[in-house]
Amino acid sequence: MRLKVMIRIRPMSQRERSSGSQEVVTVENKNSVAVTNIKVPEQNSGDSRERVRRFAFDYCFPEDTTQDQVFETIESVIGKSLRSRHHSCVLAYGQTSSGKTHTMMGLPQDPGLTPRLCRKIFKYFEDGALNNAADKLKVTVSYLEIYNERVSDLLPKDASDQDRTKSLKVREHPKKGPYVEGLTEHPVSTSDDILQRLEQGSSRRKVGSTATNPRSSRSHSVFSVSCEGVKLHLVDLAGNERAGSRGYGPSRFREGANINKSLVALGNVISTLAEQSRSSSRSSRNKFVPYRDSILTWLLKDTLQGNSNTVMVATISPSSACYSETVNTLRFGQRAK
Ligand code: ADP
Ligand code: MG
Repeated sequence: MRLKVMIRIRPMSQRERSSGSQEVVTVENKNSVAVTNIKVPEQNSGDSRERVRRFAFDYCFPEDTTQDQVFETIESVIGKSLRSRHHSCVLAYGQTSSGKTHTMMGLPQDPGLTPRLCRKIFKYFEDGALNNAADKLKVTVSYLEIYNERVSDLLPKDASDQDRTKSLKVREHPKKGPYVEGLTEHPVSTSDDILQRLEQGSSRRKVGSTATNPRSSRSHSVFSVSCEGVKLHLVDLAGNERAGSRGYGPSRFREGANINKSLVALGNVISTLAEQSRSSSRSSRNKFVPYRDSILTWLLKDTLQGNSNTVMVATISPSSACYSETVNTLRFGQRAK
């Protein structure tokens, strides 16, 4: 797998400004981010030293970056990958409210990566098609959600079916790899068809998500487009904040543990793969990759190995109030390198 890790800092929100928090993250150049730990001077000790940590990445988008600029940079990786018929994947990782959904979906008047890539995807597939009969290309889309280590179909055959408790099983085909049994694959013939399915599944995802139970920020969503065995996965991950900090009951506790399980597994898989690609020693190259430790990593196995290309966009807030989650996110991104 070839992995690029990119960082996107969102602007300070109104709430962050009015609560008096400060901006502590700066993009130093396109490959480096600095985070300052502002110490409030302690009474007596007078210690107010600032500690600056620096992290290096493949690309860092400062807070004034437009959706179009993010798209252009990531398209240069993903478009090329799909034209070469390689599996491709974009993952948005970060704490809740850091800008994952903004980056992936965006707003109708200012679309994010997913709709922008979908607008051009027929072109990528046509350029990479094995024969020239572009009009005969069979393209399908699917959209799933992983919540509490259970998979549900966001585009079920019967669209009126609102049973969100139904869960689908992941299986592994000896040649084609892991797949979700019973997940609906919808044929599409234009980019408008794709966008309509994306819209349909996303509104379903919002059902059951409320302020007190923000299911959508606790689940992973995977929108997939396939053509002739080549797959593109667009993944909006669950918030990576440490769960359990708000004193939830036992079921929330399990949910938190499960969210963590997928993200921990993702970190382990990615760092094992990174180690393999860095190393020339045989033992390291053959190191066991724990794909099956979580549903997420199992499902993404194909796009995380071999010749596939993955871009992880780690999103962060610039606010001092988010300091420790931000450092966590940057460390996670760093592990992949
Ligand atoms: P997440 O999906 O990580 O929980 P969201 O994408 O929903 O976070 O972002 C939280 C809020 O911040 C939203 O209101 C969103 O519109 C805003 N936001 C996020 N990133 C940006 C950005 N780069 N520029 C402007 N607003 C942003
Ligand atoms: Mg979100």
